[in-house]
Amino acid sequence: MRVSIAGAGLGGLCLAQGLRGAGIDVDVYERDPAITARFQGYRLMLSPVGYEALQGCLPQRWHPLLDAIVGDAYGAGLILDSQLNQVGQLGPGRTGIVIDRHVLRHLLLTGLTVHTGAALTGYDVLDDGKVETRFAHGGSATADLLVGADGVTSAVRAVLSPQTTPTDTGVRFVIGRTPLTERFAGLSWAAGSKIAGDGGNLLLGAMRFRTPPMEAAQELAPEVTLPDVRDYVRWAMVLPSGGSLGATTPQEAALSRMEGWHPDLQALVEQADPDNSTLLSIRVVEPRERWAPGPVTLLGDAIHATSPTGGNGANTALRDADLLRRCLIEAAEGRQDLLGAVGDYERQMFGYGAEAVQHSLDALPAIISKPVSA
Ligand SMILES: Cc1cc2nc3c(=O)[nH]c(=O)nc-3n(C[C@H](O)[C@H](O)[C@H](O)COP(=O)(O)OP(=O)(O)OC[C@H]3O[C@@H](n4cnc5c(N)ncnc54)[C@H](O)[C@@H]3O)c2cc1C
Repeated sequence: MRVSIAGAGLGGLCLAQGLRGAGIDVDVYERDPAITARFQGYRLMLSPVGYEALQGCLPQRWHPLLDAIVGDAYGAGLILDSQLNQVGQLGPGRTGIVIDRHVLRHLLLTGLTVHTGAALTGYDVLDDGKVETRFAHGGSATADLLVGADGVTSAVRAVLSPQTTPTDTGVRFVIGRTPLTERFAGLSWAAGSKIAGDGGNLLLGAMRFRTPPMEAAQELAPEVTLPDVRDYVRWAMVLPSGGSLGATTPQEAALSRMEGWHPDLQALVEQADPDNSTLLSIRVVEPRERWAPGPVTLLGDAIHATSPTGGNGANTALRDADLLRRCLIEAAEGRQDLLGAVGDYERQMFGYGAEAVQHSLDALPAIISKPVSA
């Protein structure tokens, strides 16, 4: 069996690792000209389901490394004013595991060949049931199964399920990261909280690695090369509906909304790494109508993109990858035919994928609204 995966994001790479481990031939095609072509360095909260799915797709010998490069998160879940006084409660305090997306992608890339600069533009199902994928550079590739793991603007989805389109929530985030110096360690108690100021809401979260990733890899799995990333604070400024940056950088736009805020908060945004600050538009994709199982399927944000306020988009993409891996192993080992395996995957994925999107939308108002007293 040969599988083509469009998209070297978290879901596509996780599936590719899982198939590689099972001895199934897999090729990954990525639109970006290089793997590190753009900012992908924010912190992700992993649920037990997402973490288990990730482990399921990775070789067992890397599990100790994975365990070493995550962080332990605690979120107080407070609502604070711009001077850091508590004015409300966002939700219950939250504990969990966090991982840096940039580091995770490096781990997931290990041992895989990714064809970069390969933007999928369309595909054809051939008479023999295989699928031929076409790329913007003029080339093509044939496989038994094409998996569209190509994110919220999926080109695979545009052909397979053209009626499924992203919805723009109108919410914009400026997201950035700042080295976790001694000064900002003092803000740790406010992690997982919302700071509701006049100019916008600021969300804070700390990424403290259990072990620095580069050193952990050298010690625990020398065949893996991980970047030299140190602890940081991830902050996200929620802009009012439809907010745009104008001529300013993302960092300047966030700062311009923080006049008179607590000096530690202003310094946090001032001292952010400019290469790792960006504006994000929050769009969702809701999985509604199923198609008849065939040699093309979708995974991750391509079919169920969530708002980051749910903290479950990556977890759901990893869950898809692990489920599809297990279904395809059934087919590869002759216990199921390929279309039956794809149908089993899609039936389960549509159910929990729709729930994940709804959960993230339910969590959105609390993040964008201001408390009555602020
Ligand atoms: C700020 C922020 C914070 C988040 N925090 C969390 C969190 O705490 N927990 C959580 O679970 N989730 C979180 N998420 C969501 C999570 O990042 C996504 O759900 C997850 O990355 C989806 O993975 P994916 O593989 O489906 O898509 P992506 O990671 O978006 O990957 C898609 C890939 O496909 C490529 N591509 C696109 N078009 C083509 C094409 N035509 N041909 C080939 N390749 C193509 C893209 O370049 C990209 O590399 C967060 C998201 C954001 C923005």
